[in-house]
Amino acid sequence: MPSPARKLLLAGRGGLNLTHSEPLEDLLARYGAADDRLRRAVEAFDPTALRNWADSLGEPTFVGTSGRVFPESLRANGLLRAWIARLTSVGVQIRTGVRWRGWSDGGGHDLEVVATGERESVHPDVAILALGGASWPKVGSDGAWTSALSAAGVGLAPFRPANCGFVATWTEVFRRRFAGAPLKNVELSAGGRSVRGEGVVTETGVEGGVFYALGSTIRDLIEMEGEVVVHLDLQPDLSAEQVAERLARRRPKDSGTTALRKAGLAPVGIGLLREATANELPSDPVDLASLVKATPLRLVGAEAVERSISTAGGVCLDEVDERFMLRRLPGVFVVGEMLDWEAPTGGYLLQATFSTAVAAAAGVLDHLGHRNGG
Ligand SMILES: Cc1cc2nc3c(=O)[nH]c(=O)nc-3n(C[C@H](O)[C@H](O)[C@H](O)COP(=O)(O)OP(=O)(O)OC[C@H]3O[C@@H](n4cnc5c(N)ncnc54)[C@H](O)[C@@H]3O)c2cc1C
Repeated sequence: MPSPARKLLLAGRGGLNLTHSEPLEDLLARYGAADDRLRRAVEAFDPTALRNWADSLGEPTFVGTSGRVFPESLRANGLLRAWIARLTSVGVQIRTGVRWRGWSDGGGHDLEVVATGERESVHPDVAILALGGASWPKVGSDGAWTSALSAAGVGLAPFRPANCGFVATWTEVFRRRFAGAPLKNVELSAGGRSVRGEGVVTETGVEGGVFYALGSTIRDLIEMEGEVVVHLDLQPDLSAEQVAERLARRRPKDSGTTALRKAGLAPVGIGLLREATANELPSDPVDLASLVKATPLRLVGAEAVERSISTAGGVCLDEVDERFMLRRLPGVFVVGEMLDWEAPTGGYLLQATFSTAVAAAAGVLDHLGHRNGG
């Protein structure tokens, strides 16, 4: 790309959630199946280390109400500027507009790197590949590196959207009225798990925090069954009895919508109830309350990888050693979202990206030390 770190800058538009302040064990659990492999890297360069690093670049961090950690500036620009200045001061050269295409010898030990524009070969002592996943290709992470790595025999898992929106079957009326409406304070249940938070109705379905948090479960169920019915509790602070009691106060002349509004439901929530019942709201307060506490929402697909916040898939973790060096290509290290792990939003993506990068940097020193007999 013409300038570096465009995805980091993009993440900065949302406040740059660098990491999370929860206890380390809870944080590690967010990486699910990849937990064991990432554990050592994240333990070695943990959220405190990441926050100290940001601080050392003149970007102190704070813990938001949700426990998420952000730079005080809530942007990536200052951090990036200071980071690049530091790198430049220690002799790092950043070359922009250069595409790595692979190895000219097909992935042997030669590690010859080919760049476009003027084709040229680079013969590095070691290479750290940090080419990202395949979401938001317009900021550079297009996943095109997969062809070079698979040609070299490196095992890859196919890219799948993570932290993505899901496609619902909205009626035209609902879509026109509610696309863009926030779903505030809802509890989403899917695949036996529940999470409370916020979401957003989109033109095509839903996205946002609660859907990202249970995203891998929802995505896997859709992949297996073709669709999944999840449930939204639209009044998570009230019991079903309390909701029913509020609905029972309905006056005879109140419409269903008025009764629900008086019971504290937002218009978008009432719209969801109408969508779920084909506009036939139950008149019995107890039945309606059960529906408010578990509004079914049919999801029929995940949004495209290009529009997701991150991607699952990439270089299988078995392909790298503890230092994140490719077993098949000694001297080539792989870090960040290129690796096959996934995590919800909450700062976990950048945390693991930084942690794997630091582990690989230590691995490089180790590898060079061994090679040089040091
Ligand atoms: C809208 C959005 C908001 C986000 N917000 C957050 C957040 O708040 N907190 C969080 O933790 N995570 C967030 N993320 C996710 C986070 O940004 C990524 O997980 C993280 O940037 C991954 O880092 P990376 O270095 O592995 O890859 P990337 O940041 O994707 O960097 C890869 C780099 O490699 C370059 N590249 C790719 N292929 C080639 C090639 N062949 N040759 C040369 N260069 C190449 C790309 O141009 C790019 O510069 C967000 C993502 C998006 C899309």
